[in-house]
Amino acid sequence: MEGSIAGLRETFKSGRTRSVAWRKNQLKAVIDLINENEQTIYKVLHQDLGKDPAESYRDEMGVILKSANYALSCLDKWVAPKKAELPLVFFPAKGEVLPEPVGVVLIFSSWNFPITLALDPLIGAISAGNAVVLKPSELAPACSSFFIETIPLYLDNKAVKVIGGGADVGERLLELKWDKIFFTGSPQVGRLVMTAAARHLTPVTLELGGKCPAVVDAFSSHSKTKVIAKRIAGGKWGLCSGQACIAVDYLLVEEKFASTLIELLKKNIKRFFGGNLGDLKCVSRIVNKHHFERIYHLLKDPHVASSIVHGGSVDEERLVIEPTILLDPPLDSEIMTEEIFGPLLPIITLKNIEESIDFINSRPKPLVIYAFTEDGTFKKRILSETSSGTVTFNDVMVQFVCDSLPFGGAGQSGFGRYHGKYSFDTFSHEKAVLHRAFFPELEPRYPPWNDFKLRF
Ligand code: NAD
Repeated sequence: MEGSIAGLRETFKSGRTRSVAWRKNQLKAVIDLINENEQTIYKVLHQDLGKDPAESYRDEMGVILKSANYALSCLDKWVAPKKAELPLVFFPAKGEVLPEPVGVVLIFSSWNFPITLALDPLIGAISAGNAVVLKPSELAPACSSFFIETIPLYLDNKAVKVIGGGADVGERLLELKWDKIFFTGSPQVGRLVMTAAARHLTPVTLELGGKCPAVVDAFSSHSKTKVIAKRIAGGKWGLCSGQACIAVDYLLVEEKFASTLIELLKKNIKRFFGGNLGDLKCVSRIVNKHHFERIYHLLKDPHVASSIVHGGSVDEERLVIEPTILLDPPLDSEIMTEEIFGPLLPIITLKNIEESIDFINSRPKPLVIYAFTEDGTFKKRILSETSSGTVTFNDVMVQFVCDSLPFGGAGQSGFGRYHGKYSFDTFSHEKAVLHRAFFPELEPRYPPWNDFKLRF
């Protein structure tokens, strides 16, 4: 392992990864890797998570093609030095900000979107001209093997390496010195990453998780309410069965509106995923037995089980959990204190929707706050009185594919940003450059000091 990382350092030192032509070739290679391995990618995503090809294309392959093409189209602009305005006193001089690659970077990815969460940061790292080690998650073994076998066939293997393995391999990698660590995963492991990085003063980006609330204001228009229910149902259960860091974790609604919303959610569940557990379709499975047990454990708490208003059945053999809705489970139960990361959706009722602000603020800062409302004053209050990585009004999940918006957490949901130009910036150092002329000389800057120089 140490040997191959030393090799990457040599490659970086040689300047090979800095050339814009090299960066573009690597981005094109990522596009070829996706396009030429479409069927294999469907297969490995199905093996690891039971994802349907349509879901795989929408959430993984399509996302990577979009990000790589966007980076290719913007790269010349991104790498160009940016002129800095200088105060008159500097005249004649020129100031600029020059992005430079940080060096050899380590990317840890998670298993839930195993292609996207590995290749999206990689696109940022190579766009910025770095050498890279990718450590995919061992919990998506088919995708991990796919990367180990395929990436060397497409990308420059003197500059990009994939190292497979679990926590033990992750720990060994963290002992080494990196120029940047980009980590997607849990807050628990995020702490270990940051502690290890501190030893070498290595900068880190932590893309973590948490509980993302969706605030649902009552709408007078039934057609809009139907769209809300459709978006929540599609976003919660139609993206890896809720195993997503940006999945709606729980809903906050006014008491009087809850039953309407529940009925509409149930209709959408039936329409999208079928009748009951045996006939469920288009639902990804839970990644493994451990996570299945973890989610099932959240449901088994008798106080929680009694709050189920839809679903609740599980198929241990197939690792499938039915889309499940719960109404007012106890706020101190684990389902309301831990990230769910699965197909369970608690609905918490409030007397007045404005109480949702205090509710959210009494918990760790979320990665995303979703809010369905048309009330401009309430929108402003959400923006100014809460803190989160993102706020999305009137939709769910789609912010992830907006290249012009930064993606990242706040507080316990992480720090640092990526996507689009933000990815390039995350893996670059912005070097300040000042070009000075020799004349004129401003004598008051030099000693010996006197009253005139003090007042100058
Ligand atoms: P995880 O923290 O268990 O694993 C993430 C990565 O760290 C994997 O590559 C894993 O092999 C490695 N790892 C695990 N233990 C390690 C150790 N002791 N030392 C070094 N490396 C170690 O997380 P996960 O189960 O893959 O993902 C679930 C979590 O990730 C959830 O909290 C979810 O919200 C979060 N997540 C966040 C985002 C985001 O973009 N913000 C995306 C997906 C998942």
